[in-house]
Amino acid sequence: MDFSIVSIFPNTTLEIVSGFILLFFGFVLGYLFQAKKSQVKSLIREAKMRAGQIKALEDVNKDMEATMRRLSAKEFELSNANQRLRELEDAKSKFVSVSTHQLRTPLAAIKWTFHMFLNNQLGEISAEQKEFLQKGFDSTERMIKIVNELLAIDLSSASPDDVYQFGAVELESLIKNILAEFYSPAQSKDINFVFDSPPSDLPPVRADLAKLKIVLENLIDNAVKYSARGGQIMIGIDDRDVNSSQPKVKISIKDKGIGLSSEAKKKIFQKFYRAPEAVSLEPDGSGLGLSIAKDIIGKHGGTIWFESEAGSGAVFHFTLPLFQK
Ligand code: ADP
Repeated sequence: MDFSIVSIFPNTTLEIVSGFILLFFGFVLGYLFQAKKSQVKSLIREAKMRAGQIKALEDVNKDMEATMRRLSAKEFELSNANQRLRELEDAKSKFVSVSTHQLRTPLAAIKWTFHMFLNNQLGEISAEQKEFLQKGFDSTERMIKIVNELLAIDLSSASPDDVYQFGAVELESLIKNILAEFYSPAQSKDINFVFDSPPSDLPPVRADLAKLKIVLENLIDNAVKYSARGGQIMIGIDDRDVNSSQPKVKISIKDKGIGLSSEAKKKIFQKFYRAPEAVSLEPDGSGLGLSIAKDIIGKHGGTIWFESEAGSGAVFHFTLPLFQK
């Protein structure tokens, strides 16, 4: 028996089937081709996108390199400028230090010459001559104060180890000596000092005598300057913390002068600040004293602060650690 396809299906049927099969394969191939084509297209799109991204990244990279180059150039410029500033600061410091030291000796000589005239040590002088000589003496003292302030400001940037000589300082005698210096300016304004002497067993504080003197002189000078005629200045030493874990004393200088406005309260420790009401009462002043005092007290390990009501006086307090052997 012959079972060949040819024998089962007639010729035409065979052609139709093979036609279908071919068509089917044609469709499948067409579909596969289309699928591949769109896959290839999307791959090409993606590749283009990636290439775009790579280009963008390269651009960013170039920008960054350029920025880095500019930054390095700026850094170089800044470090040069910084070096130059340090040199200028050094030169300024040396200039202030040399000129103030050079000024101090002749100024002291002028002051003592006026002093000798005023005390009739160089012969009798008339009341009129005395008045002029007193002006000369006062102006010289002001100049000495400014020179000392400039020196102190200059030293404020130095390390305390280099410029401070700490030792045991007896407060009572120091304050009494300073009050004696201010006796004449206080008397000329009818101001009297009231010093509450501390208990006789008050231990000494740890301080640099010369620097502490600058602080006390400045606070007492301010109390006199910023008081109207007929005031009173009270100086007190509070010893309640001498036996605490951080033994210290508190010194207070209280006046009944012009006091501090709310604006002045924010600024008085800034260099060169002078409140307008202070300037109109006392035109002479540098605005440096309190900033120097704050620096000095800080370097002693103490604190300085004030309380005041505008028009009703001010009280300045500062603390100092006790001297410990
Ligand atoms: P100066 O007295 O030379 O102006 P200071 O630094 O000692 O400089 O003081 C700064 C400012 O603080 C003063 O100009 C004044 O406005 C204010 N001040 C200081 N002490 C007193 C005080 N006892 N009473 C009122 N104002 C004061």
